[in-house]
Amino acid sequence: MKYHSTRSAAETADAREAVLQGLCRDGGLFVSDELGSKPLRPEDIRGQSYQSIALEVFSRLLGDFTREELLAGIEHAYANTFASPAVTPVSKIGREYLLELYHGPTSAFKDVALCMLPELMSAALAGTDRRAMIVTATSGDTGKAALSGFQDVPRTGIACFFPEGKVSDIQRLQMVTQEGRNVAVAAVKGNFDDVQREVKRLFASPLRAELEEKGVTLSSANSINVGRLVPQVVYYYDAYRQLIEAREIKEGDSVDFAVPTGNFGDVLAGWYAREMGLPVRRLIVASNANCVLTDFLRTGVYDISRRPFVKTISPSMDILISSNLERLLYYVTGGDTKRVAALMKDLAERKRFVLDGEALEKVQAAFGCGFADDEATRRTIAEAWRENRRLIDPHTAVALRVARDSSADGTPCTVLATASPYKFSRDVLEAIEGRPAGDADGFACMKRLCAVTGVRPPVRLEQLEGRKILHRSTVTPAGMADFVRRAALRDF
Ligand SMILES: *Cc1c(COP(=O)(O)O)cnc(C)c1O
Repeated sequence: MKYHSTRSAAETADAREAVLQGLCRDGGLFVSDELGSKPLRPEDIRGQSYQSIALEVFSRLLGDFTREELLAGIEHAYANTFASPAVTPVSKIGREYLLELYHGPTSAFKDVALCMLPELMSAALAGTDRRAMIVTATSGDTGKAALSGFQDVPRTGIACFFPEGKVSDIQRLQMVTQEGRNVAVAAVKGNFDDVQREVKRLFASPLRAELEEKGVTLSSANSINVGRLVPQVVYYYDAYRQLIEAREIKEGDSVDFAVPTGNFGDVLAGWYAREMGLPVRRLIVASNANCVLTDFLRTGVYDISRRPFVKTISPSMDILISSNLERLLYYVTGGDTKRVAALMKDLAERKRFVLDGEALEKVQAAFGCGFADDEATRRTIAEAWRENRRLIDPHTAVALRVARDSSADGTPCTVLATASPYKFSRDVLEAIEGRPAGDADGFACMKRLCAVTGVRPPVRLEQLEGRKILHRSTVTPAGMADFVRRAALRDF
């Protein structure tokens, strides 16, 4: 299985190397031209478990790993790590469905992939004399899921950066209380885009070669890494199987998915599933007030030149530069690396790019879109509680709002529920009670939300109260390289 950069076909890697490297040397993302060459159809997964669907997907997209490696990894990643035996159960919410992706160890959908990525990384490192240093930018949820996944994994270290003041109380506490001898965490002065830009720059900087010389490969746990993306393909298939088994659809029926979107990783995994043969009619890209993707999908113009960065109550989607869009551009331009490189150059230099012609038509045929601002998000959280007795988090609410406003023709629509509402207790409580929670802290809000709704918080979130703060560093974007160097040269 050959992977190469979205910006040039010159630099190639097999799947193991692509997972280890994370990002290509030219700044592009690893893609494979074999997507869809070995289809996976609904009849192929009939009656299968989550784990066996995972094996089908992985062996198609990460073919260089042996079946034994994949099996062992899947077993370790998904046996008893999720609070639901179904791993990612589907439930009903009015006319829509919720794909509950938040039952993992850190209560966000990122767990599904970040339980598996360390398995892939360890398998790729086995038989080499290298170690891997994972550098992760987080808008809130990736950080904790990655820290938890890589904690004390032999021959790996992890440095995690989050934008200071721009994640929820609970999200911050989850990260700064992280234990493990191979972990490092720092707040960064800036927003998520600043942090992500600096991480990408590190991959293209002399630091990469400097560490490589010392036997340390710089890698990423962000969805720019194919090893993050591929495990997310699995739950689209598994959701479809569940809908069939619940007799909500028949095998072969077309379905829609509505996806709360930031970096475009989750929804791109849905597009991979669609390319591989899952009968997905449309993937609905749901944004918050940072609705650069809504505008792009409607017009082909991706423009961040005059767009302010808005801090919202769905912080994991407060992103203006959606990295994985680059992979979609590669595929819809028919693998035109020169054109993708030119578009990305436009984005870097002129803060905008324009996609047109057949490529834009392909995008618009597969993707729907819409956005919900904070007011609409709060209203939807309240509505889901009042009318459906379901407690949903602000990110899920954004997608439910967009799904409810856009699906008119009766095609079944599954909304990806990406986080536990208890990660955002204050905003969820305020939405349900219809008034400010005052100066109550995150834990007081958690308790009150539980008292008001009777829905229990995840145990690991409750247990955060009183945990010792282990990480207190704050750095500027320019200071991130040094922080990574120090973390990478520690003994792990
Ligand atoms: C990361 C995240 C998203 C956005 O997912 P992308 O893959 O970045 O588009 C949505 N909701 C939650 C809760 C998240 O943590």
